[in-house]
Amino acid sequence: MAMKDPYEVLGVSRTAGDAEIKKAYRRLARKSHPDVNLGDTGAHKRFQEIAAAYEILKDPRKKERFDRFGDTGEAPEPSAAPQPGGPWGQGPFGRQRQPPSGGGGPAGGGFRWSGDVSDLFSDLFSGGGAGIGLGEDEDAAAAITIPFRDAVLGGTISFSARIPRRCTRCRGTGHVAKAACPACHGSGSLVETESLTVRIPAGVDTGARIRVPGKGRTENGDLYLAITVEKHPYFNREGDDIVAEVPVTVPEAYLGAEIEVPTVKGPVRARIPAGTASGQRFRLKGRGIENLRTGTTGDHYYRVRVLVPTVQSEEGRHLVEALGKLYARDLRGDLPRGV
Ligand SMILES: [Zn+2]
Repeated sequence: MAMKDPYEVLGVSRTAGDAEIKKAYRRLARKSHPDVNLGDTGAHKRFQEIAAAYEILKDPRKKERFDRFGDTGEAPEPSAAPQPGGPWGQGPFGRQRQPPSGGGGPAGGGFRWSGDVSDLFSDLFSGGGAGIGLGEDEDAAAAITIPFRDAVLGGTISFSARIPRRCTRCRGTGHVAKAACPACHGSGSLVETESLTVRIPAGVDTGARIRVPGKGRTENGDLYLAITVEKHPYFNREGDDIVAEVPVTVPEAYLGAEIEVPTVKGPVRARIPAGTASGQRFRLKGRGIENLRTGTTGDHYYRVRVLVPTVQSEEGRHLVEALGKLYARDLRGDLPRGV
């Protein structure tokens, strides 16, 4: 995965200092998450670029390596790229099955930060005692990755964050009786570790933003969580629709059959007609993702994949030779012989 020049991504010069880089990152990270951009993968990609660029430029060692060699290090994107044809594309069906999303994560949500939140908060507040209300912006932002299951069904995530709060001793002034406040050492604010639980609305998608009121840089500011949804090993999401592959036998495809199709909310009995070809796609209306924000529900598409038995036997040979006689014409007779 080729990465762009981090200086270019953040729009800063090569001589930019830490503070300038930080400022550019914060401004761009927030901008790439408009409140309503559900399913906007462009915004999501942009955000990842910004995060990756900052990842390099905030780390003196990585920054130096880039400055000297143009080396951007390892790609930060944690989720594996889907294989062409979906995760069931190669090998016998079932061999590549992975544990369902959410099953292996920690209790209470199984989310993970894609960044270090304490780092993010300390970043926001470094700069020599910028007290409550003195910052240029009262909001804060953090990126989180949530399991596919929580995105589809809704859920909660719990985490602790270091949140700056107005010092109660000096009421944020930094002074007590003309001396520096002993509680906050004159800064006017104290950083407190707070446990937060945030509800994930069903139907949320990568690129969405969740606002946590009052948990920003000040009591008046909000914390914005930039959501990335993990890929599911079986269900492919396209907006609110789901596309997934269902393997069927040659007799099922030839004769037609009623089969069980997995959907995000459980298996559904569905028909495939006689004479179904591999790759044909069918729709289960309203069996996709229920999106609470838009009030609509997507559809589930299942694509049939006809699998040939792998056991070789004398009997099988006779059966299949008989089957071969049923093709009315030469299947490849109409194909071009070249350009
Ligand atoms: Zn104080």
